[in-house]
Amino acid sequence: FFIAFEGGDGAGKSTQVRAIAEWIRAKGHEVVVTREPGATPIGKRLRAILLDVASAGLSDRAEALLYAADRAEHVASVVRPALERGAVVISDRYIDSSVAYQGAGRDLSPTEIARISRWATDGLVPNMTVLLDVSPETARERFTEAPDRLESEPAEFHQRVRTGFLTLAAADPARYLVVDAGQEPTAVTEVVRHRLDQMLP
Ligand code: C5P
Repeated sequence: FFIAFEGGDGAGKSTQVRAIAEWIRAKGHEVVVTREPGATPIGKRLRAILLDVASAGLSDRAEALLYAADRAEHVASVVRPALERGAVVISDRYIDSSVAYQGAGRDLSPTEIARISRWATDGLVPNMTVLLDVSPETARERFTEAPDRLESEPAEFHQRVRTGFLTLAAADPARYLVVDAGQEPTAVTEVVRHRLDQMLP
């Protein structure tokens, strides 16, 4: 069973991933927690390139392909092997992040980005995608560390990213759970648990 958590920077994905992983483990499942970009040795190198403020001039298409390469390696070496042995896999970001950031955020076609991701993953789609939706203003208040390359993008960029995520979720309500991530973290966890309880094998 494959779960992806998606959402903008500062939506609280890592907190929710930790809480949900612990809860599923307590039910007796093996849980593999992973993330993009940077879950594999090659991915870590790609992540360093992608998030370095010194990569500011990286072209949009090259950026999209580096994320796709990270994802291809991630699926082949982490996600598929874990799913094959019956583990529950929880990924902090997946295809939708590319469609939202490299597609809707940059000036590339979201449809083309989705197609590249489909090829990179050989068609692996999550059983459930949790979209933690929060306004860029609320998210910004949560930043405590020095901003990475993306976090210093203008507010309009993050607004397009948010709309990109919501558009994906609206197109497939059976697979998506959209949660208001402006709520208290414990309230968000509760909403996710409720839905997963009905879906987990
Ligand atoms: O989620 P995390 O903080 O690890 O993401 C690292 C950075 O990469 C964030 O600033 C995020 O906006 C950016 N990112 C991106 N495109 C993706 C995935 C992440 O721009 N496909």
